[in-house]
Amino acid sequence: MPHDHSDHDHAHSLLPPDPALRIKALETLLTQKGLIDPAALDVIIDTYENKIGPRNGAQVVARAWLDPEFKAALLNDATSVVAEMGFYGRQGEHMVAVENTDDLHNIVVCTLCSCYPWPLLGIPPGWYKSDAYRARVVREPRKVLADFDVVLPDETAVRVWDSTAEVRYLVIPQRPAGTDGLDEAALMDLVTRDSMIGTGLANTP
Ligand code: FE
Repeated sequence: MPHDHSDHDHAHSLLPPDPALRIKALETLLTQKGLIDPAALDVIIDTYENKIGPRNGAQVVARAWLDPEFKAALLNDATSVVAEMGFYGRQGEHMVAVENTDDLHNIVVCTLCSCYPWPLLGIPPGWYKSDAYRARVVREPRKVLADFDVVLPDETAVRVWDSTAEVRYLVIPQRPAGTDGLDEAALMDLVTRDSMIGTGLANTP
């Protein structure tokens, strides 16, 4: 897939090993120049880390498990469907949902940096941004899955989706067995962040 990183969100991929220090220096400089308000930054970070987290994505998945029409619409046009649920904003402008089945397991990466569906999953985990994950998941996805304690049947194909500045992916994990009577809230609790990246499976009740 083409990987167009035309925006400037991705300079962190070029940072030396101490990115936190550089970010702090940048924040200080921008604050001193009056270009940013640290309090506003704190609100944004808190929103993505704690209020959004992966809960929005979990609700989308739970609803897809419960409602075949919703799932069909989600697979057809995820951006519109999740926007109708109120999940839109920075780093989530163009969403694509991909469904795990017995035949196919999907995994998401950003090989160039750390593109990630913030409005659905919050802030990406550290490993998602690591050089090791980004390089290895393309070359040896089953070994990476094994590192996450996910072992798939040989007959299940693995497909790796490379996020871009334009397109972000949401994996719809398979609904676990033994969840027939559960409502949306109970199902949401089974949907882990990693299961929506494809490096995990949904929990069983
Ligand atoms: Fe990226």
